[in-house]
Amino acid sequence: MLEPIKLGQQKIALVPTMGALHKGHVSLIEVAQQHADVVVCSIFVNPTQFTDPKDLEKYPRPLAHDMDMLLAAGCDVVFMPSVQEMYPEPEEWHIDLGPAEFLLEGEFRRGHYQGVTQIVNKLFNAVNPDLAFFGQKDFQQVLMIENMVAYFKLSVQIISCPIIREEDGLAMSSRNIHLTKDDRKNALVLSEALQYVKDNFKTVSIPELLENAKKMITAIPGVDLDYFTIANGKTLLPEADKNQPDIVALVAAKVGQTRLIDNMLLN
Ligand code: AMP
Repeated sequence: MLEPIKLGQQKIALVPTMGALHKGHVSLIEVAQQHADVVVCSIFVNPTQFTDPKDLEKYPRPLAHDMDMLLAAGCDVVFMPSVQEMYPEPEEWHIDLGPAEFLLEGEFRRGHYQGVTQIVNKLFNAVNPDLAFFGQKDFQQVLMIENMVAYFKLSVQIISCPIIREEDGLAMSSRNIHLTKDDRKNALVLSEALQYVKDNFKTVSIPELLENAKKMITAIPGVDLDYFTIANGKTLLPEADKNQPDIVALVAAKVGQTRLIDNMLLN
């Protein structure tokens, strides 16, 4: 699709999204613009990564709003394939993503990362980018995509970008529009618990940090905690040694009817 640009030796960046764009997505486009000549944003709600058909059905698709956001952001190309184009026929996809596939999100959404890597691989094939930009918001997703890139020995460079938050700390997400007024208030506890862990990481023991963070979250009615962990950022296994590099706190919870995830780097 972008062969003439490739031949001109210009660098192509891809920002894959599922639409319902917000400032978090725009920040990826802005970082991409600093690294590449041409920025492609894909919008595709990928059916194979949804483990709950109701979640797929109710996923927001505000197309006109998305086009306005992309125009304002100065995005060069929008790639918006149909499901038929990406999956002309059903296809089995299973690759070895390593043991971290089955932890955290992988435990609660079985098969999710097979679907994610399947579509990202297809997007890479279609766009042939030099670089691809993903949000640290989906921390485990970045790891899984890096593993997929290593598995196929692809030459695309994966870049992880910081989490963009609302003023009060809630991580921006396309799913936040499903939050009721009460949910929106309750959801704040997720970033607050992460911030508590970050602020006290040096002085409080890991077991105590975990206990207190979980207490903060479970004290809020309407918030149903799936996990809160302090983990090694490479293996996602629980971390016991504060002196290790790449330690990250990760949380997932259902707030009302909406499942949210968030994380913070601790060192
Ligand atoms: P999605 O449309 O939810 O699949 O997200 C598309 C990309 O945007 C993914 O790489 C996400 O990690 C990233 N993203 C989503 N929310 C944020 C955020 N609040 N800050 C930064 N990046 C984000």
